[in-house]
Amino acid sequence: AFGPEVVPQGPEDVMFGLIAAYRRDQDPNKVDLGIGAYRDNNAKPWVLPVVKQADELLRKDPNLNHEYLPIAGLPEFTSASQQLICGANSPAIKDKRVLSVQTISGTGAVHLGALFLSKFYSPANKEAKVVYASAPTWANHNQIFTNVGLEMKSYPYFNKKTCALDLDAMLASLNSAPSGSIILLHACAHNPTGVDPTQEQWKKIAQVIKDKQHFPFFDCAYQGFASGSLAKDGWAINYFIEQGFELLIAQSFAKNFGLYGERAGCFHFVTGPASSAQDTIARVGSQLAILQRSEISNPPAYGARIASLVLNDKALFAQWEEDLRTMSGRIIEMRKALRGKLEQLGTPGEWNHITEQIGMFSFTGLSEEQVGKLRDQWHVYMTKNGRISMAGLNTKNVEYFAKAVDSVVR
Ligand code: PMP
Repeated sequence: AFGPEVVPQGPEDVMFGLIAAYRRDQDPNKVDLGIGAYRDNNAKPWVLPVVKQADELLRKDPNLNHEYLPIAGLPEFTSASQQLICGANSPAIKDKRVLSVQTISGTGAVHLGALFLSKFYSPANKEAKVVYASAPTWANHNQIFTNVGLEMKSYPYFNKKTCALDLDAMLASLNSAPSGSIILLHACAHNPTGVDPTQEQWKKIAQVIKDKQHFPFFDCAYQGFASGSLAKDGWAINYFIEQGFELLIAQSFAKNFGLYGERAGCFHFVTGPASSAQDTIARVGSQLAILQRSEISNPPAYGARIASLVLNDKALFAQWEEDLRTMSGRIIEMRKALRGKLEQLGTPGEWNHITEQIGMFSFTGLSEEQVGKLRDQWHVYMTKNGRISMAGLNTKNVEYFAKAVDSVVR
């Protein structure tokens, strides 16, 4: 019943294929710049000290059991997540205009939002039921939205010449999209480019979205991880909420807590300051609960318990902020080191974008051919689009990588 005419062989996931190839490589100098997970200066996974502490506390708790969480997740986790992403003094939280559901990390939150939109989003102009994502965007966005039957289009974002944001083209594209379109935005640390709008640019983006009555959907996978400041990385979302938008947020705790495999995340629906807000929240909440029940029944507990302990305790929270500064600080140092080495070597081209971009990733501007040479001749593993995970660099391999880049660029 499932011959190749109905189930063709699918392509291997690019990211996970890259990891497998890296693992097979026996060269002692091999460098993994593919995976989007933090590594310490010894290229090893890092359990955040605050997560260790919270874990020990959890294990000591005699009342801990393995019961189901409620459908919408651990209440103390979802309310703390809400405050983190909207800002503790958010007008939306004060007015109870935020509805939050715990999800299978950020991917699950994007999926739940996509599913909700596919079922319930009904713009006056039917042609507006389209999701506009940046070009490029996280590859999984395309699959997640198209899997629930939503059409995907793109708006220009990255300027290949400058390796920076192409704001004018982005604004023009949003302006010409059918009024009421869904606009997918990366809250901070844009993946894969590392290019974020400035606050002034965000204001212009918000204005066009407002003028066109578009519907914003924020994907936030790196709060605190980008700049080291939770507030700074959450600024764009806070600003949109202050502007009174109705919007969606997908929040991941994979990177900022290093809880990748624990799948801790949250989906938030924020409605505008209308008199009917409470009614909207109640109805939307009831439908999200039905969707959640049929999809995963209830979310996984462990990662949410860890994050919840930290988010709800002053001392642990302060330790977390320090851990965030450790991770983001090391990445910023590696950006400086890489740019410095390339400039020292006189590598052809401009390398200022390496330090101007932010977060886990950098779009180097290297071509597919150069990426191939890096892999074949230098055992450096990165995606074909020229993206590198800065977390894969450390004081021991950054010079090797710079020399490798220098050799393939010349
Ligand atoms: N969105 C973006 C833009 C991401 O980069 C990621 C992590 N790669 C995610 C969502 C979700 O990741 P996770 O499901 O591990 O939280």
